[in-house]
Amino acid sequence: MKPRILYTKPSITQAEVAYATDAAANGWGERCYEYITKFEDAFSRYLGVRHAITTSSCTGALHLGLAALGLEPGDEVILADTNWIASVAPVTYFDAVPVFVDVLPDSWCLDPEKVEAAITPRTKAIIAVHLYGNLCDLDALLDIGRRHGVAVIEDAAEAIGSQWHGARAGSLGTFGTFSFHGTKTITTGEGGMFVTNDDALYERVLTLSNHGRARGQKKQFWPDEVGFKYKMSNIQAAMGLAQIERVDELVARKRQIFSRYHDQVGQLGDIQLNPEPPGTINGFWMPTAVFSKESGVTRDKLKDAFAAENIDARVFFWPLSSLPFFVPKPDNANSYGLPERAINLPSYHDMSDDDICRVSEVLLSVLRKH
Ligand SMILES: *Cc1c(COP(=O)(O)O)cnc(C)c1O
Repeated sequence: MKPRILYTKPSITQAEVAYATDAAANGWGERCYEYITKFEDAFSRYLGVRHAITTSSCTGALHLGLAALGLEPGDEVILADTNWIASVAPVTYFDAVPVFVDVLPDSWCLDPEKVEAAITPRTKAIIAVHLYGNLCDLDALLDIGRRHGVAVIEDAAEAIGSQWHGARAGSLGTFGTFSFHGTKTITTGEGGMFVTNDDALYERVLTLSNHGRARGQKKQFWPDEVGFKYKMSNIQAAMGLAQIERVDELVARKRQIFSRYHDQVGQLGDIQLNPEPPGTINGFWMPTAVFSKESGVTRDKLKDAFAAENIDARVFFWPLSSLPFFVPKPDNANSYGLPERAINLPSYHDMSDDDICRVSEVLLSVLRKH
């Protein structure tokens, strides 16, 4: 059996180990927030936003942001049917109604026309998820948001390093969220970030994230309302600081891995990889191959072929509306069609060129059999 190729694994160096060790040994008492503050400052500088708040997860950051917007039962939130559950779960915590719309066939992200058609007087927000690093059409979505008075949230958990006409993914919406789960481009093990340019929203989330205790409140142990507890520890933030100091290197490696895949299988008509339209930069968190309908290649054939070669490959996200607790929306033809003939490819930083060749060879061999 050939050695296993994992699909993700973080890039951890002496820098992460040194900061985390320092935080564990010394980051207490007066220094208990030191790495948290440094990580938030470095992250907001990198992103080009005024405010950043560390959280224990991206799910928590979304929950806080939606609470700060005042989401209420019955409010509608529009998002793509093609998504991981984390992007919609916080919507349901408010008994708000997720409205799943179809994605575009090339970006695998929200179709702005479908978003506009789904707007109702109850629409409170649009959650734009930049899938696998691919960017949503932010100009169109922000315009829809402005015209209808609806917040546009960027779930940029998969899009660190991606840029929309010079602005970093996550920096353009009402607020943005990130994940530092171990599978993401930068990691703290578990963790997340809330970012915004809106001073009032920042203050609101800060209060909510501190069990409802406002910054100005002088009375000790005095919450003014019931809030949340989604904080990141100083030790995790130490890892995060080292990772954000290496972010250019980490994103560059993701882009290099994608470009190797692109050289080997991206020129074939039957395999479509993540797009990078003019004016954008794709952080290529997760290189993904979508086979043409005509090729006859299916998810199951791909899974079997990768398993036989001892390579981890992930299935493309199932449509959220196909999950047992939501109402099916099979009319979302792209969301239902894409996962039937697609696969996520391994892309961890330390994989070798030989590994990339082995993966590409599987894609080519499956195609040759048809
Ligand atoms: C990973 C991910 C999340 C969830 O992040 P957690 O930190 O695990 O909560 C949310 N949204 C998207 C788009 C993700 O990829």
